[in-house]
Amino acid sequence: MNSTSKNENRIVPYKMLLDAMETTYELVEKILPETGIPSLRIGLEEMITVVRRDIEKAREGVPIVGYHFAFQADYLKCFDCVPICIEGVSYFLGTLLMNGVEKYYDIIGNWGHPFHTCSAQKGAMGMSLENLYHFDAMITPTAPCDSTCASYPFFKFEKNIPLIIADMPFLHDEKSYKYYGEQLKLSLHSLGEVIGQEPDFDKMRKALEVENEVSKLRMELFDLIKAVPSPIENIFNPISAAATIIISGTPENISFYRRILDIAKSRYKNKEHHGGEEKIRSIWPYMLTFFDISLCEWLDRKMGMSVLFDIFNYNLSDPVDTKTDIDSLFYGMARKAMGWPMIKQSTEFYYPFLDDC
Ligand code: SF4
Repeated sequence: MNSTSKNENRIVPYKMLLDAMETTYELVEKILPETGIPSLRIGLEEMITVVRRDIEKAREGVPIVGYHFAFQADYLKCFDCVPICIEGVSYFLGTLLMNGVEKYYDIIGNWGHPFHTCSAQKGAMGMSLENLYHFDAMITPTAPCDSTCASYPFFKFEKNIPLIIADMPFLHDEKSYKYYGEQLKLSLHSLGEVIGQEPDFDKMRKALEVENEVSKLRMELFDLIKAVPSPIENIFNPISAAATIIISGTPENISFYRRILDIAKSRYKNKEHHGGEEKIRSIWPYMLTFFDISLCEWLDRKMGMSVLFDIFNYNLSDPVDTKTDIDSLFYGMARKAMGWPMIKQSTEFYYPFLDDC
């Protein structure tokens, strides 16, 4: 096997994801009318561009870094690496493929991993047992919950992957933001030592500025979502969750939100609803059915039920101060990280939920 194939074979599941996205995109192009599920079409276009670029980088041999979805992908832009979300890749494969990644859940279950831990890591764990992943390092915060953190020692002790852990405090207050900001800085330096790179915080700052811009666009979009009928289709929710995981910190994320916003503005002006008529408005305090997102379309078209947001995409944060100094930068990053979906709710469930309403 030549070195290029060997390099890209370090992330076989990510290549599977690219195949699944390209096939879905082809179906969308060939079967749906121009106006059908635009968020799916737009989201796939933007994500495919980024995943192709990542796979090209993997071919060149840059380090592969696995990260927990609760560790923001844009923070890893301080390195020349391919960041792979442990939870996201198998979840989105589950969304796009008929049989999902059940095989790998069975493999890790048969290996003896406790069934009651978070399901989100199990796909990647089974894939690692099959040697489909070869990570150079992994990084995770001690969040959102024990059930998720408990699976990460598997990667360290069974697969011998260097594991960097950023300690996140439970309470959300000034002292905690300062502490977690320090933890973020330390953990990025530790990750740099493992992969042999010095973190380039100027490069990271640019990715954070991209995400500040995305936040503004998201705020504008959520203002429009208050309108009746909702100007987004339900599938926007899982697609935007995928975008946060896969294209954060890249110009493609800005392009995704600009294009969605244009459609939402036009629907808002014309009082158009994707499904025809909005009869019910719902918010989902936890997750959507990622294993079958066609439910979103069914709710829109058959029930006239709009899903305004779910736990993953109602993800609004103050812009990170990228101009003042390094301490303010990491403080803002910590605040944003501690308000991240599931982390925000893991301290207490109902108050953040009531605030969101
Ligand atoms: S709260 Fe999130 S991370 Fe924790 S078990 Fe549930 S899905 Fe997994």
